[in-house]
This record gives sequence, structure tokens and C-alpha cells, in this order.
Amino acid sequence: MSEETIFRKIINKEIPADIVYQDDFVTAFRDISPQAPVHILIVPNKLIATVNDIEVEDEVLVGKLYCVAKILAKQEGVDISGYRLIMNCNQDAGQEVYHIHLHLLGGKNLGKLISVEETIGE
Ligand code: AMP
Repeated sequence: MSEETIFRKIINKEIPADIVYQDDFVTAFRDISPQAPVHILIVPNKLIATVNDIEVEDEVLVGKLYCVAKILAKQEGVDISGYRLIMNCNQDAGQEVYHIHLHLLGGKNLGKLISVEETIGE
């Protein structure tokens, strides 16, 4: 797996992005193609390609993604109204960028998680 994901370039500020949070471990920036009024991607600075590649040593780092999500949800004013956190893994989930990232979505009623009723039993 290449070390050069587009998110690596954003973390390193080699390409522009609307970064809303960055520390030594995590970077968060607005999604370039937002699916909700608030759509932020929360990314570990360390490259982990998929959820399948998370190691025991990454437990604290992955937990930190959720702590940053909580901070940003409050900052964006959606902590009370509600928000959704999603991490896609591999093809069936539609993962496009192979550098794990938590989607923070909010600012509108997001409806049901997925249209399971329509897909189960097909
Ligand atoms: P996923 O399908 O879970 O891998 O999500 C990848 C997300 O990255 C999509 O929502 C894209 O819109 C977003 N994305 C791709 N390139 C960029 C970029 N340069 N800046 C911000 N978001 C991006």
C-alpha cells in the first residue's frame, strides 16, 4: 500500500484543505464534497489503510479520533442537535481513500443509517 494518500498530503500541508483541527496525532478537515451542512473528516496522522489494519498499538490513537469528533461537534454547533460518525472499510462500504478517517456529519436530520430495508433480501 502506498504511503502517499491524498490525506497524507493534506496532513503535510502539501495540498490545500480546510483544516479545522490538527495536533501531533490527528488532523481534521472539511470534506471536499459535503453530504451534510457539517461534513468533516477526522484522520490519524499515521497512515492506517483500513479498519482491518488497526493494530492493538493504535487503540489510543483510534480512540482519539472520537475525542476530536466530540470537540468538533461542539465547535460546529451540532453536539446537541446530533451528528453521525462513520468509518467505511473497503469496497462494499464505498471506501475511496485508503487512510482511515471518521466522517463527522451533522447540521440536518440524517435519516436512517442506511436503507437496509431496501437491500436485505435482494
Ligand atoms: P470514503 O469514501 O469513506 O473513503 O471517504 C472519502 C472522502 O474523502 C469522500 O467523502 C471525499 O469527498 C473526501 N475527499 C476526497 N478528496 C478530498 C480532499 N482533497 N479534500 C477533502 N476531502 C476529500
